[in-house]
Amino acid sequence: MLAPRILKKLEEILGKERIIEDWEGRLTYSYDAQVEEAVPAAVVFPQSDEEIAQIMKLAYEEEFYVVPRGAGTGLSGGSVPLNNAIVMSFEKMNKILEINGEDLYAVAQPGVITLDFQNEVEKKGLFYPPDPASAKASTLGGNIAENAGGLRGFKYGVTRDYVLSLKAISPQGEQLKLGAKTIKSVSGYDLVGLFCGSEGTLGIVYESTLKLLPLPEAWSAMLLVFSTLDEAASAVSQIIAQGIVPSSLELMDNFTIKAVEDYKHLGLPRDAGAIVILEVDGYKESVEREMAKIEALLTKMKPKEVKKAKDQKERDDVWAGRRSALAALARISPTTLLEDVTVPRSRLSQMVHVIEDIAKRYNLRIGTFGHAGDGNLHPTFLTDWRNKDEWERVQMAIEELFTSAVELGGTLSGEHGIGLAKAPFLPREYNEATIEAMKSIKRALDPKGLLNPGKIFID
Ligand SMILES: Cc1cc2nc3c(=O)[nH]c(=O)nc-3n(C[C@H](O)[C@H](O)[C@H](O)COP(=O)(O)OP(=O)(O)OC[C@H]3O[C@@H](n4cnc5c(N)ncnc54)[C@H](O)[C@@H]3O)c2cc1C
Repeated sequence: MLAPRILKKLEEILGKERIIEDWEGRLTYSYDAQVEEAVPAAVVFPQSDEEIAQIMKLAYEEEFYVVPRGAGTGLSGGSVPLNNAIVMSFEKMNKILEINGEDLYAVAQPGVITLDFQNEVEKKGLFYPPDPASAKASTLGGNIAENAGGLRGFKYGVTRDYVLSLKAISPQGEQLKLGAKTIKSVSGYDLVGLFCGSEGTLGIVYESTLKLLPLPEAWSAMLLVFSTLDEAASAVSQIIAQGIVPSSLELMDNFTIKAVEDYKHLGLPRDAGAIVILEVDGYKESVEREMAKIEALLTKMKPKEVKKAKDQKERDDVWAGRRSALAALARISPTTLLEDVTVPRSRLSQMVHVIEDIAKRYNLRIGTFGHAGDGNLHPTFLTDWRNKDEWERVQMAIEELFTSAVELGGTLSGEHGIGLAKAPFLPREYNEATIEAMKSIKRALDPKGLLNPGKIFID
């Protein structure tokens, strides 16, 4: 709970109706999609940058913690409010302010749902490529703070590649303008780059200008079934080696296929070793050429089965399984731990073997799916934290997983962030001097450490 004095001042800024104080209400904001850890002291719903600035000035004066929150779909505990923090939710800042077809950008508030944004710009023949599998629920603010990737990362990159400029409030309550609405800007340090992926620890984003592209005129989607995971990983390498750049290139292992089938009954082959789902997009002629190249490779890749989508309905069917992979796995056990290791694409096959080996040696259930084209895999541990023995094995297995990813030239997290869950492992990837450089940026921007405490680093 907050001190009555602070609560009164927050009420003066927002009015009682935009503050949650009761226990049940606060409980709803105590977890994200993976980490359940701490109940906030209060939840506040600002509607303008002035209100955010006033709240941060109050926080600075009274020294209480603030945790920004989008939709809470994060998978590393980023929006979990430690240290009796208040949660600042952007549910009421969810407007698209401008869609500019001439300069190819849109301006939006942080609480806009990603899919709504994609749909609105598409109505004007424009395209916003970042496409996290959580697009139906996640917000643009959360995507920026996590530098979210997604299903179209292989061809189109990640959220950072589409952020032209940001408006933010500093931890001291000051206005910050980062970047410019132009395609190019090298005026000073790249603070947009710094804020993307900063997990709400450096400032509060209240407006973003996002780059748009013309909507691709055509697409073609295909699902390939393989007998083994190895064959599937090798198919991914062969496609990339041909110089083909699919917009999406995704992988699901046998465990995940069965989980999806039990959940959605899509008719996926339960005996398949793995499935690769791919899509190419662009001009009609180039889509046809790229698909023809992929089809020419089929004799070498030797899939057991090939399904090519003929219309939008079949395209949706091809993607339905992949989009429901996490939900399908999460039904299996009380605790789901989804990891996010990423390796250079050429090491994908090795990483897949490491995961299989870890599952065997630690006797654990792991379903693996992910953005194969990005070398980004989501080995998902299905467990129960109350089973002490298994929980210990899971912890050891995760540690080994991270070590192996880094040894293969990879990274702990391709897109979900370090947050709370992976903070203890950051020293596996970076040396002390590098972590100290990051901490000194945090200290410079947030000297009292009030914004999203306990994330990214273990102090
Ligand atoms: C089923 C499922 C599928 C997913 N698929 C993908 C995927 O394909 N790719 C991917 O990258 N991620 C994926 N995720 C993870 C998650 O959806 C993303 O990290 C997403 O960007 C989080 O957005 P959110 O609005 O839910 O943010 P939250 O979880 O609420 O917050 C995430 C972080 O952003 C900070 N934050 C939020 N708003 C602001 C703001 N306005 N200013 C500053 N900081 C802010 C928070 O403090 C926190 O640190 C998936 C999650 C689920 C549950």
